[in-house]
Amino acid sequence: MPDVLPNVLPNVLYDALFKIHTDNPSTFLHLEDGTALSYSAFIGNVAKLANTVTALGAKPGDRVLAQVNKSAEALALYAACVQSGSIFIPLNTAYTSKEVEYFISDAQPSVVVCDPQVFDSISALTDAAVVTLGTDGDGSLIQAAQGHSSTYNTVPREATDIAAILYTSGTTGRSKGAMLTHSNLLSNAQTLVDYWQYSSDDKLLHALPIYHTHGLFVATNTIMLCGASMIFLPKFNVDDMIAHLPNATSMMGVPTFYTRLLSDARMTHDLVAHMRLFISGSAPLLAETHEEFEHRTGQRILERYGMTETNMNTSNPYDGARKAGTVGFALPGVDIKICDPETGKELSEGEIGMLEVRGPNVFSGYWQMPEKTAEELRANGFFITGDLAIKSADGYISIVGRDKDLIISGGFNIYPKEIELLLDDSDGVLESAVVSAPHPDFGEGVVAILVANPGSSIDVEAIKSAVTTDLAKFKQPKSYVVVPELPRNAMGKVQKNILREQVKDTFAS
Ligand code: AMP
Repeated sequence: MPDVLPNVLPNVLYDALFKIHTDNPSTFLHLEDGTALSYSAFIGNVAKLANTVTALGAKPGDRVLAQVNKSAEALALYAACVQSGSIFIPLNTAYTSKEVEYFISDAQPSVVVCDPQVFDSISALTDAAVVTLGTDGDGSLIQAAQGHSSTYNTVPREATDIAAILYTSGTTGRSKGAMLTHSNLLSNAQTLVDYWQYSSDDKLLHALPIYHTHGLFVATNTIMLCGASMIFLPKFNVDDMIAHLPNATSMMGVPTFYTRLLSDARMTHDLVAHMRLFISGSAPLLAETHEEFEHRTGQRILERYGMTETNMNTSNPYDGARKAGTVGFALPGVDIKICDPETGKELSEGEIGMLEVRGPNVFSGYWQMPEKTAEELRANGFFITGDLAIKSADGYISIVGRDKDLIISGGFNIYPKEIELLLDDSDGVLESAVVSAPHPDFGEGVVAILVANPGSSIDVEAIKSAVTTDLAKFKQPKSYVVVPELPRNAMGKVQKNILREQVKDTFAS
């Protein structure tokens, strides 16, 4: 008699992404040290970790919180949580212990996995079992896993069960835990494999962090679903990317990956002529970057749009025109409406409004925040994204900013993106960010923050006079600041909250 009963009941996500690879000898991960990990070996490691988290006390539905560096083991921990029916919560590695304290008190995990270096400070915050996972796959979690079996009796999970909670990046207010179900994750992966035409022949260059939806779900779930492989780098750096691009078929990146690659002369047509697909998301890709990338490499980046709460919502087409400055069309099965932010009424084509989204990809709510969930997730299933968008006559959607970025000056609504696009086109300007600062007369005044092209200087007076012909008076920046670079978070998003803080006294009398 075997000592474990065969798994007969389904576990929706585990069965589709992981179980299918139990006996798959092909390579899943090409690791930085030059070794390769097969699918079947990975699945064996997953089972060992599933046994370990269960032995540590994580019951189905319990939370397993992990703040660990990127590694094959960290990825296996995600899969182990899915297999054991616990809820995986990956945390940004940049959070301090003080910040982690909030996540622990909010999520009440029964197991916490952290870097060996912070074991003492994390242990002091919780009664949960605390184990460690280091950068080289070392630590007490892996030591414990070594003593466990490489088979595990998979815990049954249904489509609506929660597989993971991802905390939103929370640039304002408290970070909220987005609850993602088995079917949210699986349905999106199925859509993306199809839409972007991934197959087992693909080799994805993966340099994204895996605590975020982009690197964890968009990249990994898609690759596992079709049995492709990944060149799994611990982090982005231009030299490594240039070294590995010749072996890859596809890359998913944030816009900063593309600007940094373009700043290197080795990024040429020949280096990437064999590549099938470059994808960008998580922050707006400047049209200029899109065009320069095509000019330099012959490759047209496919830009898509999504968020932690919804997985992927829209994408430029694989075969049709990939339009710079747009995020394409609603993905199959996803409904998108652009609505009046005040009334929620759907607007006509060409009008800027709040993007609302509904579909199997949309999360089931914020962890223990029923009021926040009710505010943002309508009873009819539409999620109010907080992104302002516009749809053109040919159906392409463009994101024009976050609603909290909206500036109201003298009673007029101003969309920063419109001004940023104009400034970005000015001589000597690499990029720009437009924010508001309190203004004694107008309530808010527009401040333009500019970054110069390398080796150029910016003629602010020339820009000022140019905008007088292009922009209505109320939209024209009342102040200009030139800075060496814009503050960005790990996903390449410009941190406008930091900029607002820096310029808050601009109009103080
Ligand atoms: P996150 O939850 O960290 O993935 O952030 C989601 C937010 O990133 C969205 O609500 C958008 O504001 C922004 N975002 C993601 N992709 C794009 C894109 N392609 N263009 C513009 N903004 C984007």
